[in-house]
Formats: sequence, structure tokens, C-alpha cells
Amino acid sequence: MAEQYGFFVDSSRCVKCWACEVACQQWHEIKAATVHRREVREDVEGTFPNVKRTFTSLSCMHCENPACVEICPQGALYKREEDGLVVQDKSKCIGCKTCGTACPFGVPDYLEVEGGGFLMDKCDGCLSLGRAADETPRCVNTCPTKALHFGKLADMEAMAAEKGGSRLEGETIPSVFVARRQH
Ligand code: SF4
Ligand code: SF4
Ligand code: SF4
Repeated sequence: MAEQYGFFVDSSRCVKCWACEVACQQWHEIKAATVHRREVREDVEGTFPNVKRTFTSLSCMHCENPACVEICPQGALYKREEDGLVVQDKSKCIGCKTCGTACPFGVPDYLEVEGGGFLMDKCDGCLSLGRAADETPRCVNTCPTKALHFGKLADMEAMAAEKGGSRLEGETIPSVFVARRQH
């Protein structure tokens, strides 16, 4: 593979405005309320009145060892040579939900298809919108606080290091760095 691309999520800048989620839904014309390619997660620690919250906007992690690719019985998922993004050939997907069970982050969602059955849906790095290699995805462009970044993973690592961030852990080796700050 040429070079892995991924995200740096700077939670210290996230204000939970959901603009990233909404932009993704609108650009990709996803109308189902149950499908989220990007999702702002909230972690709460402590007990009242000493409660601390962290907001983290996450999508598919485009893992280095993607369990979804490995398990798909149709070969409908694959990892791109040029940037390591994990994408889907929708014409091969039979909506069996096996990838959803295998993904340790519960990323794949399922769209109900007219006439019955399901079709898996997840972040494709905005490639289906014709994003060029030197452009950033819609969620990144939309974030008003610059909490989201996308690019070569080595660059994301360097940005995260400046904020005391680190790579998300997991057997599948997620291509996402996160810097946290509790609110
Ligand atoms: S986060 Fe889940 S769906 Fe995305 S590449 Fe990794 S295993 Fe696959
Ligand atoms: S990269 Fe594109 S598809 Fe992925 S979460 Fe961001 S806007 Fe959605
Ligand atoms: S658009 Fe930016 S600030 Fe708003 S929820 Fe998403 S990551 Fe957080």
C-alpha cells in the first residue's frame, strides 16, 4: 500500500454542534434516521456535580487490519492500495450484516432496501462524491471549530502529538488519532 490516510479528531475543540454529522447525511443523501456515517459520541465521567464530558466525532476508522473486509462473504469490502481507505462495492453487498458483527466499533449501518432486505452503509471518505486525493472530506470541511482533520496518517500522528493525543486502540488498528480534553 502506498500510504495510509486517516483522521485526527481533536476532541478538545469539539462543541458537539453535529454539523459534521449533518453535512455527511446531506451530501451523501442519507435519509434513514438509523444510518450515521459519522457520529458524535459523548463520554461522561464522574458524578454530579463533578461531571466531565468528552465529545468525539467518529466514522469508519479505515483500519489497517479491517475485520469487515476479512469476514465479508461476498468480497464486497476492500482496502484501497493508494490510500488504505476501506470501501464497499454496493453491487456485491447482500445486506447479511456480518460486517456489522465483526467491526469492533459497530460502524456499519444498514439501509432498508425497497422490496425487502438491507444494504450496508458506512463512511467512504467521500470518494463517492468524487473527492480528489488533495481534498478533504465534507465532514472535515464543515466543522466550524477545526476539530476534524484528514490526511496522511503520519501527518495526523504529528498533529495529535502536539495536543498530547494518541492513536485509537484496537485489534484492527484504527487509522484515527484522538486528542481529548474533558469539558
Ligand atoms: S472501523 Fe469497522 S467498518 Fe471501518 S474499517 Fe474498521 S473494521 Fe471495517
Ligand atoms: S469522510 Fe465523508 S463519508 Fe466519511 S464521515 Fe466524513 S463526510 Fe461522511
Ligand atoms: S462539526 Fe466539529 S465541533 Fe461540531 S460536532 Fe462535529 S467535530 Fe464537533
